[in-house]
Amino acid sequence: MPTFADKISFCIMLLKGKEIANQIKEEIAVEVEKITSKGHRAPHLVAILVGEDGASKTYVKNKELACQKVGFTSTLVRLPETTTEEELLTKIQDINNDDSIDGLIVQLPLPKHISENNVTQAIDPAKDVDGFHDVSVGKLTKGQDTFISATPYGIVQLLDRYDIETKGKHCVVVGRSNIVGRPMSILMSSSGKRGNCTVTICHRHTEDLQRYTTMADILIVAVGIPEFIKGDMIKDGATVIDVGITRVDADTPKGYVLKGDVEFESAEKVAGYITPVPGGVGPMTIIGLMQNTLKSHQNKFNS
Ligand code: NAD
Repeated sequence: MPTFADKISFCIMLLKGKEIANQIKEEIAVEVEKITSKGHRAPHLVAILVGEDGASKTYVKNKELACQKVGFTSTLVRLPETTTEEELLTKIQDINNDDSIDGLIVQLPLPKHISENNVTQAIDPAKDVDGFHDVSVGKLTKGQDTFISATPYGIVQLLDRYDIETKGKHCVVVGRSNIVGRPMSILMSSSGKRGNCTVTICHRHTEDLQRYTTMADILIVAVGIPEFIKGDMIKDGATVIDVGITRVDADTPKGYVLKGDVEFESAEKVAGYITPVPGGVGPMTIIGLMQNTLKSHQNKFNS
């Protein structure tokens, strides 16, 4: 049984993404109120979902709910699994040409017969609120103003809201995907407010991973392997950001539990701060998306 002192330290060290996300949603709602009171339409996000993947349906649903909460207009375009790449690209063009839409996301993964690269590159960079287009990634790399990929953007804001110092710290990112690990490493090394870290990026071919993870002041893990990082791979007092969300079969009403990439029970004994799963990075990712959609609207109406 945890002691009272254990419980207090437990409360202090959790980076509560859900709580911060709710605060930021209220702030966005105030902005939307200002926009509509000036007579402009509300920001409008369109999500395209191809097929029937259960996790993807949940993610898209959560994004729609967030839109409702902040006062955005949201449209969900559902397409069957059998949709061809050409049909999807035509739909994207229609949305690109529609002035009443500020942001477009295509939920990944896509069915195997559709090229994710062709799809992400077909989205107008001005509406690329997921930040996956080459133009967005290129600008991020050069430190220019752009749409930052939603998960890294959300994580940086979480660090900021908890006032976690990053300048001069050693940040180790485990995972080098185009949507999380790679942009995360760029942001943490950039000269932004929560950047200026010395960054090491690790991946499946890294030898002696523990050697690097135990050097991290800030450890960001995005590998998709449940409980991959154990407590003995973490430096005392480190900030640990667990991006992973994997459904693991379990004897629960839903038939699964959600697990992060970090083994929480051993990690919380060593870490200074840690994100829970669920309720950590996930809600902050949605915030990144909402903020990018608001920014797209502002780019259009304030220019
Ligand atoms: P991905 O599969 O595209 O990339 C995984 C990365 O992990 C790869 O770069 C690979 O090199 C690395 N890796 C694999 N095995 C490794 C090993 N043994 N040692 C070191 N590195 C290894 O995954 P992704 O899209 O970045 O997603 C990662 C996880 O984050 C998944 O669980 C995903 O569901 C989750 N995710 C969560 C959010 C969120 O909002 N919380 C958003 C995006 C992704």
